Amino acid sequence: MSIRVAIIGAGPSGLAQLRAFQSAHAKGAPMPHVVCFEKQADWGGMWNYTWRTGLDEHGEPVHGSMYRYLWSNGPKECLEFSDYSFDEHFGRPISSYPPREVLWDYIQGRVNKAGVRDYIRFNTAVKHVSFDQATREFTVTSHDYSRQQNVTETFDFVVVASGHFSTPNVPAFEGFERFSGRIMHAHDFREATELKGKDLLIVGSSYSAEDIGSQCYKYGARSITSAYRTQPMGYKWPKNWEERPQLSKVDGDMAYFVDGSSKRVDAIILCTGYKHHFPFLSEELTLQTANRLWPAELYQGVIWEDNPQLIYLGMQDLWYSFNLFDAQAWFARDYMLGRITLPEQAAMKADSARWRAREESLESTASMYEFQGSYIKHLIDQTDYPSFDIDAVNRIFLKWKTDKKHDIMGYRDKSYRSVITGTAAVPHHTRWLQALDDSMDEYLRETRAKGDVNALYQR
Ligand SMILES: Cc1cc2nc3c(=O)[nH]c(=O)nc-3n(C[C@H](O)[C@H](O)[C@H](O)COP(=O)(O)OP(=O)(O)OC[C@H]3O[C@@H](n4cnc5c(N)ncnc54)[C@H](O)[C@@H]3O)c2cc1C
Repeated sequence: MSIRVAIIGAGPSGLAQLRAFQSAHAKGAPMPHVVCFEKQADWGGMWNYTWRTGLDEHGEPVHGSMYRYLWSNGPKECLEFSDYSFDEHFGRPISSYPPREVLWDYIQGRVNKAGVRDYIRFNTAVKHVSFDQATREFTVTSHDYSRQQNVTETFDFVVVASGHFSTPNVPAFEGFERFSGRIMHAHDFREATELKGKDLLIVGSSYSAEDIGSQCYKYGARSITSAYRTQPMGYKWPKNWEERPQLSKVDGDMAYFVDGSSKRVDAIILCTGYKHHFPFLSEELTLQTANRLWPAELYQGVIWEDNPQLIYLGMQDLWYSFNLFDAQAWFARDYMLGRITLPEQAAMKADSARWRAREESLESTASMYEFQGSYIKHLIDQTDYPSFDIDAVNRIFLKWKTDKKHDIMGYRDKSYRSVITGTAAVPHHTRWLQALDDSMDEYLRETRAKGDVNALYQR
């Protein structure tokens, strides 16, 4: 009898798992009984944009945290699938930092080609997962909103691919209840033009703070003040952007900071991170971790050590992304297909402890993506996922960091060379700061002759 696999989520991680099974099947392996549960109406996870905030059309918490005008914040050459290149998808070189819709299209291209859509049950939210020690089976209860019915099924393996950038971490500050403007978490931010001409306070200093602040600057916010807890982001910000230490309180429309300074603001966006949250899992199956490179209790970063029939994908802090999910999904597939044998539990835990100790010794930024790169390589060496030059990707990460330091509002105008095909990316026809229309049609429009583009970048 074939194994039964439930995949929770059809974002990049869940889709990687489907593609992994399909690719083995295309080479003659049996296709397991696979059901991929997806609570949204379409695939792509975060990359499937929604204007909704709060609850979705079914009353489920809205998954999406991406906003309009979001462009990739890292080079596409660092996330390229090694079995499906950007060249294959677009048929011509594109720039290194595409907008969301373009990356969503790329994600879809591979799984359309693989023909795996029929394995997905859309509009179906997993409500509960439990494990029976006697039968060694999972019971998965889901709600199918198209038919308005609960369905209960049993599976041999459960793959949790539900993401970890959806449930906001929302601190409160003194005076918030009487603040006269809008307060929202980054999870609910959608439209930067809403803040045009306004004085914006951003609480936080990580990727969301940097990127949402940059969007708002680009779309005409009057000023941006970002408050950091431990250290400033330290970029060369435009004149109307300043960094202050932690917010201490708000009084009316005045924000006060721990250094005693203050600033009048119209709106506050809390870029204060997300929680790993799995309300559908029984307690003994639930991963509890902060956003870090090596969450505890996952053998090889994916297999739940206390019950190896449970698998988590994409739960790490992300430098690498799509190619990391692929490396994990191929490893998980080969384990589920019986091609990889796990060691005893004690050996799994000892192995994880070694990775964790390495993670804890990391100090520089470069050592972090190099660590993640070495993890990916370690996984890929155990499967037939096409290997790629991880050292070359690490060098692109380094260049990216330097470009940002040099020009935080201009780094997206840089381009790199694919480590998969060797193709050099081309500069986009419009500089990022001037590119207000982020649609795929506009992005793929070929306006300028090559000479004009060169002239543009020499200015
Ligand atoms: C604002 C923002 C910007 C980002 N920018 C970048 C970037 O530029 N580059 C980059 O590489 N990464 C970026 N990321 C990271 C991004 O999360 C990953 O690229 C990727 O989407 C993670 O894939 P995933 O499949 O693990 O999770 P997700 O993409 O979050 O997908 C999880 C899926 O699970 C589904 N799901 C959840 N719960 C259930 C349930 N109970 N039942 C059924 N289905 C469920 C969701 O609907 C969703 O479709 C960004 C993230 C955010 C929030």
